[in-house]
Amino acid sequence: MSINIEEVRKQFPILETQVYNKPLVYFDSAATTHKPQRVIDKIDEVYKTLNSNIHRGVHYLSNQATLAYEEARNKVQGFINAEHSHQVIFTSGATAAINLVANSFGETFINEGDEIVVSTMEHHSNIVPWQLLCQRKKAVLKVIPINQDGDLEMEAYKSLLSDKTKIVAVTHVSNALGTVNPIQDVIDLAHEKNIPVMVDASQSVQHIGIDVQKMDCDLLVFSGHKIYGPTGTGVCYGKEDLLNQMVPWQGGGEMIHKVSFTETTYNELPFKFEAGTPNIAGAIGLGEAIDFVSELGVDNIAAYEDELLQYATNKLMSIEGMRIIGTAKKKSSVISFLINDIHPFDIGTLLDRMGIAVRTGHHCAQPIMDLYEIPGTLRASIAVYNTKEEIDQLVAALTKVAVMFA
Ligand code: PMP
Repeated sequence: MSINIEEVRKQFPILETQVYNKPLVYFDSAATTHKPQRVIDKIDEVYKTLNSNIHRGVHYLSNQATLAYEEARNKVQGFINAEHSHQVIFTSGATAAINLVANSFGETFINEGDEIVVSTMEHHSNIVPWQLLCQRKKAVLKVIPINQDGDLEMEAYKSLLSDKTKIVAVTHVSNALGTVNPIQDVIDLAHEKNIPVMVDASQSVQHIGIDVQKMDCDLLVFSGHKIYGPTGTGVCYGKEDLLNQMVPWQGGGEMIHKVSFTETTYNELPFKFEAGTPNIAGAIGLGEAIDFVSELGVDNIAAYEDELLQYATNKLMSIEGMRIIGTAKKKSSVISFLINDIHPFDIGTLLDRMGIAVRTGHHCAQPIMDLYEIPGTLRASIAVYNTKEEIDQLVAALTKVAVMFA
């Protein structure tokens, strides 16, 4: 089956938006994807028909809400092929999930002098929580370099792994360059030395899919709002044994078994890591978004988006002065670029006036910009609702802008 683009687009009401009297052309899905009507309806339905707090009520609505929330967890479990649903912890996003890991794994396993390995191409949310941990524990952050194409330097990676390395935390796909990392090699090499690996799947789960058992990653995180789900949702998956060993991070209701002033004991997975009232409607909405993606088929989405990525890359290259930042061997859904020495913000602002939404700046990945010695880039990112016609519009607009500045 291939993607029926008219059918897909019909499901996203926001694509009807007019921007300055021009039809919206949205190439900022790496920041957040739009939501199909069924996700919007699902959230509406939750508040209209089953709004109630979960897990603690004896009454009808509370039971209905709990069932729907846990069904959403089962959907995530199936989607990433986790062995058990209790390995899926709902969070408010990838950032919250990484902070959970850095704090909880960090508190349990990281001591003075230990090393944590990340890469140069990480999003700030997979750098700063580890830096905070390193400051607290007097641990050391080691960084896998990348080459000018935006590929990980795998030999350097191997040489960073040692008895001191306690965790590797690496992104699957770079949000700033589009690089698809050889994540299986990253994991396998770490495992040869019994080092656990956390994968940031924020930019891969919606484009190329995830099978946590096949990957054998120890921890994996992603945001719900980048996979057609609501904002304020995310997931932290972990291997059961590891999650059981990790001390809780946030305390509060639901995460406890028994509280007293002499001793407090903690709840079992996944509740140990879900303190307080969660984003109930959001999680249920995320379940609906996962149904949307599953029904289209991740493989179909990947094939369609790859075609768009190729098409866009070739077309953009035809623009005078075009410089694509990130030319890795394998890429997904993101094209970062500059035109001559025009500031990306100026181009982004002019594109906006033509109805075209792209992102400008460092994309929360400043170390990458330092590497390329640039202040930032323009980033066009692709989702399943984009079309070749929209790419043509982007290329025509950029050509116009390049001429204006020349
Ligand atoms: N990791 C990557 C690779 C990302 O692209 C993002 C979002 N741009 C994040 C982490 C953080 O996600 P969020 O802001 O949704 O928590």
